[in-house]
Amino acid sequence: MEKNSVVIVGSGLGGLLCGYILSKEGYEVTILEKNHQLGGCLQTFVRNKCIFDTGMHYIGSMEDGQALNYLFKYFGLTQKLNLKRMDLNAFDVIDIAGEKYNYAQGFDRFADTITSYFPKEKDAINKYTNKLQEIGLSLTNLLAGKAKPGSTGMASFEHFYENTHQYITSLTNNYKLQNVLAALNPLYAGHPNSAPLYLHGIINFSLIESSWRMVDGGSQISDILAEGITNNGGKILTKSEVKEFSANEKGEISHVLLTNGDLIEAKYFISNINPEKTIELTGSNLHRNVYKKRISSIEQTISIFSLYIVFKENEFKYMNHNCYYYNSDNVWGVETYSPLNWPDGFMLYTPAVSSSDVYAESMIAITYMKYDELAKWENTTVEKRGDEYKKMKEQKANQLIDKIEKQFPGIKNKIKAYYTSTPLTYRDYTGTINGSVYGIMKDCNNPLKTFILPRTKVPNLLMTGQNINLHGVMGVTIGSLLTCGELIGFDYLLNKIKETS
Ligand SMILES: Cc1cc2nc3c(=O)[nH]c(=O)nc-3n(C[C@H](O)[C@H](O)[C@H](O)COP(=O)(O)OP(=O)(O)OC[C@H]3O[C@@H](n4cnc5c(N)ncnc54)[C@H](O)[C@@H]3O)c2cc1C
Repeated sequence: MEKNSVVIVGSGLGGLLCGYILSKEGYEVTILEKNHQLGGCLQTFVRNKCIFDTGMHYIGSMEDGQALNYLFKYFGLTQKLNLKRMDLNAFDVIDIAGEKYNYAQGFDRFADTITSYFPKEKDAINKYTNKLQEIGLSLTNLLAGKAKPGSTGMASFEHFYENTHQYITSLTNNYKLQNVLAALNPLYAGHPNSAPLYLHGIINFSLIESSWRMVDGGSQISDILAEGITNNGGKILTKSEVKEFSANEKGEISHVLLTNGDLIEAKYFISNINPEKTIELTGSNLHRNVYKKRISSIEQTISIFSLYIVFKENEFKYMNHNCYYYNSDNVWGVETYSPLNWPDGFMLYTPAVSSSDVYAESMIAITYMKYDELAKWENTTVEKRGDEYKKMKEQKANQLIDKIEKQFPGIKNKIKAYYTSTPLTYRDYTGTINGSVYGIMKDCNNPLKTFILPRTKVPNLLMTGQNINLHGVMGVTIGSLLTCGELIGFDYLLNKIKETS
């Protein structure tokens, strides 16, 4: 066994970023992925010649000098990604009970635009944008080495305890404005009584700084990282599902066992899969009971239903913004839908493609769906769920298309074909518990309960991915630095990143 060998289980964004860092640092890296395609939520699929993203719609902070642009240079991503900047004056258009509001890029432009709808609320809006920048600064401080991981400076730790909904309502009594400022809560599947301000702050900060689409899909990220890892001498094995992390008598992981019977040894192991599942696969008394209990008691974020529409050629105009719709005037209640009024709200967009920026080839619409609704198909696998399941998907698709038709009259006639995915699809393709959209749910009432450190009690087992730190491209990237920092030193890694910027 190589002295610095590392096995990474899962090729989601977190697994690939860790693989890239460690292979660059001379570790002998092997990434094991259960699917035939890499990337987890970065996976794309093709239908009717259209590329569809499964879990990546837009990213923020990619302008020169901004945090993700800076970090992605180290990974060779900034140089190679094909991105399209979204509309400066409206990267998101929010429709709340029929009234439309634009989210603009840049903090001044954002504040001016929102103030144009609520002229008497200028002070509250400025206070809000200042707060976002204060939270964003904690991220910049971390990357500049001015704050340590886990320290209060790292992520303005008090914002983990602060409640997003309460913070926003403390700014203003204007109910409409409160809802406009909270309207991107589907990006963190937030509950009004538990969503930490840190979560809201980092996501909104990053997208308002600058927002971008990935042209021809988000699998660009996994392709570029995979190429880098292989060039650095790393190995990536697909169709390699790990069924056990096996321990030796010293209480360390000695090897992983694959479902095909293969056994792979290494000095270190990084799990890119859900912590609860990781513990399950460790299957021994290596973790303390109190840790196991804490992890298994954390609620998972809700799952989603996705509709993938293929348009007839040159029929529907490309929109360089996303649209969020809320049926009622309360943007926080969407996940409490009843099957009859479903969907209570949804998000849709036309993906950016290299072939045209005038007409859209396709549209993706997503909305919450509870895993419980699919209880009767729980024990089925992909493509083998039966006719009743297909009928249910058809009915759900029609319910959603009817709502989309209300927003874009005539759109039904422009549809050439459509496809759908449910919480079961997400469960089976990404291995998340119950198809959970963003992994574990963060809770400002007890942040330490939902704050998972990359280091476990098993000395050579680390974790990475959306459950460490935060979900999303920015969150998972920071998480990968925290994970690899445990092996090669966080300050050392920050210096390496600085050298490439
Ligand atoms: C619908 C949707 C939309 C989203 N939109 C955005 C967005 O617009 N912007 C944004 O920044 N973020 C978005 N996100 C979030 C973002 O995609 C995720 O947070 C991030 O990609 C998760 O990365 P991860 O490293 O945690 O791994 P995951 O993507 O969860 O991947 C884990 C990998 O592990 C593999 N695996 C699981 N079990 C095993 C096993 N036993 N053996 C081997 N391999 C295994 C899985 O197959 C998978 O490939 C979205 C997510 C979803 C679902």
